[in-house]
Amino acid sequence: MAFYQPQPWRVDQTVPNPSAMNWIDSHCHLDALEFDLDRLEIRQAARQLGVVSCVIPAVERANFKAVRDLAHQLQDFYALGIHPLYTGKSQDGDLVFLREEIDRSIDDLRLVAVGEIGLDGWVQSLDWARQVHFYKEQLKLAHDFQLPVILHVRKSADALLKCLRATKVRGGIAHAFTGSLQQAEQFIELGFCLGFGGAVSFDRAHRLRGLLKALPLSAIVLETDAPDIPPKWLYVQAQARSQGQSQARNDSTQLLPIAQVVAEIKGVAMDELARVTSLNVRRVLARMHAQENGPLTPD
Ligand SMILES: [Zn+2]
Repeated sequence: MAFYQPQPWRVDQTVPNPSAMNWIDSHCHLDALEFDLDRLEIRQAARQLGVVSCVIPAVERANFKAVRDLAHQLQDFYALGIHPLYTGKSQDGDLVFLREEIDRSIDDLRLVAVGEIGLDGWVQSLDWARQVHFYKEQLKLAHDFQLPVILHVRKSADALLKCLRATKVRGGIAHAFTGSLQQAEQFIELGFCLGFGGAVSFDRAHRLRGLLKALPLSAIVLETDAPDIPPKWLYVQAQARSQGQSQARNDSTQLLPIAQVVAEIKGVAMDELARVTSLNVRRVLARMHAQENGPLTPD
C-alpha cells in the first residue's frame, strides 16, 4: 500500500482560493483499513485544503468504537449504525448494543446521526427481509433518540421512502444518491439532503449530472465516500484491473476537485457552493450546528 501522495487535480487558479473556504466531507470512512498507514496525514492534507469537518459513519458493531475515537481525535463527527451490506454478518443483539451505545453517547455532540443504514437492492446475495428488519429497527432508534439518519441508497429509494413514512425521523442525508428527481423530491420533503461525490465526475454520468443540475442548491451536500467511489481522474479502468492493477483509493482531499465539477454543473461559484453545502450539512445534521453555539465536551 502506498503512502499518501497528493493527487494532481484541476482547480481554478483564479481568486478566491477554494482552500480558504470551509468545506465538509459529509461521508468518509476514515476508519477503513485502507487508511491504516497514513490516516492522520490524509486528514491533515484535507484540512489544509479547507475540509474543516468530516462525518465518519459506522458500518457494523465492530467499528463503533473506532469511528467515535477517530472523530474525537480528529475533531470530526461520527454516526453509529449497521450498514445494509453488513446485515448478513450482524446479530439481532447488535441492534440492542447499538441502542445502548447511542444511549451512552447521546451527550457527545460529535455523534450526529444514526448511520450508515439503509437498503441495498443491487447486491443479490443479501437477504432483503433481513435488510428491511435492520433498517426499520434503526429508524425506530433514530426516532426514539431524535437523531437524523445517514442512508445508503442503491436501487432501493422507494422502499427506503416507504419505511421513512411509517417511522418519522429528523431527516438526514441520502448519501451517494442516484435515484430519480421524483424520488429526490420525496426525500427533500422528508427533511433530507442528497449526497453527491466522485460519481458526478464521469462524463458518461448524464442522468446523475442532470439530476444534480435540476436540484436546488439547498438540497445538496458534498461527500467523497472515501476510500470508495474514486472520481474519474483516479479511477482505474476494468481493463487495467484485469491486468492486476487495483482500484484507486479515494480520500477527503478529493472533495475540492469534486466540488469544482459540481460547481460547474450547477453554474455556481466555489465560495457559494462551499457556503451553502456546509450550511446544508449543519442543517440536516443539527448537532454539528450546536458546536457553533458552545464548546463541545472536552476530548
Ligand atoms: Zn458509506
